[in-house]
Amino acid sequence: MSHYTVVLICTTELQEEKPQQKQTIFKPKDHDIHKHAEGRMTLNQTAKIINQAKKECRKTLLETEAKTICAEYDIPVNKFQLAKNEKEAATQADQIGYPIVLKIVSPDISHKSDAGGVLVNLKNQADVANGYKKIIENAKKYKADAKIVGVLVQEMAPQSTEVIVGAIKDPQFGQTVMFGLGGIFVELLKDVNFRVAPLTAEDAKEMITQLKAYPLLNGYRNTPPADIDALVTIICNVSRLVMEQPEIKELDLNPIMAYPKGAKTVDARIILE
Ligand code: ADP
Ligand code: MG
Repeated sequence: MSHYTVVLICTTELQEEKPQQKQTIFKPKDHDIHKHAEGRMTLNQTAKIINQAKKECRKTLLETEAKTICAEYDIPVNKFQLAKNEKEAATQADQIGYPIVLKIVSPDISHKSDAGGVLVNLKNQADVANGYKKIIENAKKYKADAKIVGVLVQEMAPQSTEVIVGAIKDPQFGQTVMFGLGGIFVELLKDVNFRVAPLTAEDAKEMITQLKAYPLLNGYRNTPPADIDALVTIICNVSRLVMEQPEIKELDLNPIMAYPKGAKTVDARIILE
């Protein structure tokens, strides 16, 4: 929960349809989190976000929404804020710290890179202001009638081994969790492992260690070993998330940066039934 900042979203879609309504997404402040005796917290934002999306008949959650849910389930995500104009983006970038990543936030653009909607490694205010314009321009070129909520200003997570945690609601087996390494390992080599939820920590560990590419996570040449326990925790928290939120049809944390100490989700997608 430590990597979290306040974000406020007013979806253009919502404003058009119901001008009196605003959608607000924010980090649960400390006083919003009610710890139970065993240390679990009451979920404030997850149910609200899912209900709001359902009200809007929107199946794909925005990255901001998906990451807010992840954070509530103790899945580490990078710092982010939503900007509505270049000036706001530049101010937020100063607060977050450079380098910065900018991303399009639109209910009509799910694969952001395909739309020229991701800019990484922006080093100063001018880069961010120009980047903001560029991203909006690219989004309009990609889909002229795309509803644009804003641009997400993000902390740039240091490069590392990229892993993926996914979940899918299988018609036969129910909520099923997936783990693999990013890029060609998933797309080309299909080197992924699945387990039916709920998962134990042992299940999660097996999903990792039984990958063909596991040696890459266990320290290879110049790459230090990844923090396997941090990945186990993420997998278990995803299992808990999809078990507690049966309306989630698909979840995709792609990529998660796996570090020698800890891990960080830099992109999250959640699709509802
Ligand atoms: P897409 O919707 O295209 O999957 P992503 O958010 O995954 O968009 O961004 C594309 C790529 O940019 C990621 O795979 C990752 O390599 C890089 N990236 C995205 N966000 C960050 C970030 N906050 N820090 C570092 N790299 C990032
Ligand atoms: Mg992605």
